[in-house]
Amino acid sequence: MNTSLTDLSVIQILDGLKKAEFSCRELVQAYLERIAILEPRVHAFVTLAEEDALSLADKADARYASARHSGSETPPLLGLPIAVKDLITVAGMRCCCGSAILKDFVPPFTASAVQRLLDAGAIVVGKTNTDEFAMGSSTETSAFGPTFNPWDVTRVPGGSSGGSAAAVAAGMVPAALGSDTGGSIRQPASFCGVCGIKPTYGRVSRYGLVAYGSSLDSMGVFTRNAEDAALLFSLMAGIDPLDSTTVDVPVPVLNLREKERLDGLRVGIPQEYFIEGIQPQVRQCVLAAIDILRLLGAELVEVSLPHTEYALPVYYLIAPAEASANLARYDSVRFGLREPAATLWEMFKRSRGVGFGAEVKRRIMLGTYALSAGYYDAYYGQAQKVRTLIRRDFDQAFEHVDLIACPVAPSTAFKLGEHAGDPLAMYLEDVFTLPTNLAGIPGLALPVGFDDNHLPIGIQFLGAHFREDVLFRAAHAYQGVTDWHQQVPALD
Ligand code: GLN
Repeated sequence: MNTSLTDLSVIQILDGLKKAEFSCRELVQAYLERIAILEPRVHAFVTLAEEDALSLADKADARYASARHSGSETPPLLGLPIAVKDLITVAGMRCCCGSAILKDFVPPFTASAVQRLLDAGAIVVGKTNTDEFAMGSSTETSAFGPTFNPWDVTRVPGGSSGGSAAAVAAGMVPAALGSDTGGSIRQPASFCGVCGIKPTYGRVSRYGLVAYGSSLDSMGVFTRNAEDAALLFSLMAGIDPLDSTTVDVPVPVLNLREKERLDGLRVGIPQEYFIEGIQPQVRQCVLAAIDILRLLGAELVEVSLPHTEYALPVYYLIAPAEASANLARYDSVRFGLREPAATLWEMFKRSRGVGFGAEVKRRIMLGTYALSAGYYDAYYGQAQKVRTLIRRDFDQAFEHVDLIACPVAPSTAFKLGEHAGDPLAMYLEDVFTLPTNLAGIPGLALPVGFDDNHLPIGIQFLGAHFREDVLFRAAHAYQGVTDWHQQVPALD
C-alpha cells in the first residue's frame, strides 16, 4: 500500500484524497518512510519537517471530512506533499542556500509562490539540496555535500536544483520547487528523468527566492509529468505586489485533453543546438521525440538562432556581475555566520572568507571584475548588448514557429567529481539552457529516452514569452503516446 502511494502523480493523489481512497496522514507517512529509507543513498534534503507535515496532514484530513459532510469545495492542492529548494524561503524553516554562511538562517517570511501553494493546501515536507547560492550544474558546490542521482548514485543529479529533481525522481515527493537562472531546473530534470518547467521571466514571483542573477532568476516546479507541472504552475503564477518584475498577464487555465493532438503546431528545430560534441544518443532520442511531435500532427520547421554561441560568455559575465552585487548583503552583521575578529573590516573578510565556498568566490571575483571601472563597458556593457541580440533571435524565430524543440544538455548525467577542478567544463554543461534565461522565455524539460548506461535523456520545449500553455500542451500530447515519464529508477 505505502509504496504504491508514492508512485502516484499529483493529479492521482488529489483525486484519491478527495475520494477518501487513502488519508492524507497515510500519504504523508508513506512519503516520510520512503525518504527515511532512500535519503542515505540520495541525499536530496537538507532539512526535513516531519512533525509539521504530519500535523498538517491531520488538518487536511479533517478538512476533507467536513467538506464531504457539508458538500463544500476544498482548496485545489489540499494535502499534497511538496518539497522546496533550499534557495526559496518558507517562514520558520531554515534556509541555507547550500552555503555555510547561512547555515543557521531561519527566514521570517515565506516566498509568495510558496504561499500560494500553501494557501491551496500543499504541505511542505522539507527543503532540498542545491549548489551554493544556485551556482553550479551538479549540486557538488553545496556546503552540505552533493546529492546523488537516483538512476546511478555514482553520478550527479545535475544542478543547481539537484535535490528537488532527485527527490521527485526517487519518489520522495510528487512535486518539488526549484529555480532556474541558467538551466537549474531543466538540466537536473533531464539528468533525473522528470519534468521541469522554467516559466517566463516575470510570470512567477521572485519574492522569497534568494537572489542569484536577478534579471535571469525564475522559480518553477518539478513533477513526473507535464499535467502535474501545469497544475502547480497555474497556482504559483501571477502578478505579485512584492515583486515589481511580475507582469499582469492572465495565467492560462489549461484544460489538457486525454489524447491531445498537435495539428497546426509549428515546431522549430534550431540547427545551432545540434552541433558537434553532443552525445550521439542524446541527439538520437531528441530527434526521435521531435518525430513523434510530427506524428501527432505538428509541422517541423528549421529555424536559426545565430547568436547562440555567444550565450555562454554573455551569461558568465551577466550572472556573476549580478551575483557579486546580490551577495554583497552577506556581511554577517544582521544574520548569517560571523567569525570573531578585532575590527569590523576584519570581521567581514573572515566571515565571508570562511562562509563562502570556492565557486561562489570565483563568481564574486568574476562579477566584480566585469563591473569595475575601466572594464564595465568592455565586459558588462557589451554583454548586455549581445543579450539583446540573443533575445531578438528568439523573437524572430517565434514569428514563424509556436515552439522550439532542442536538447537540454549535451550529455547525460556525469560522474561525481568528473568536472572537479575544471570550471569551464562545468560551465559548458549549460550551453543549451542559458539562452532561454538571457531571453526571458519559458522552457519545459521532459524525459525522452535513455542512453546505454540507462541514464535519462531530456528534451526541452521553448516558447514565446508567456506561452507556457503551448509547452504544456505539446508535452502532454507527447506523454499521451510515450511512457518515458513513467519509468522509475530501481532503488527498492
Ligand atoms: N549552472 C549555471 C550556473 O552555475 C546555472 C545555474 C542556475 O540556473 N541557477 O550559473
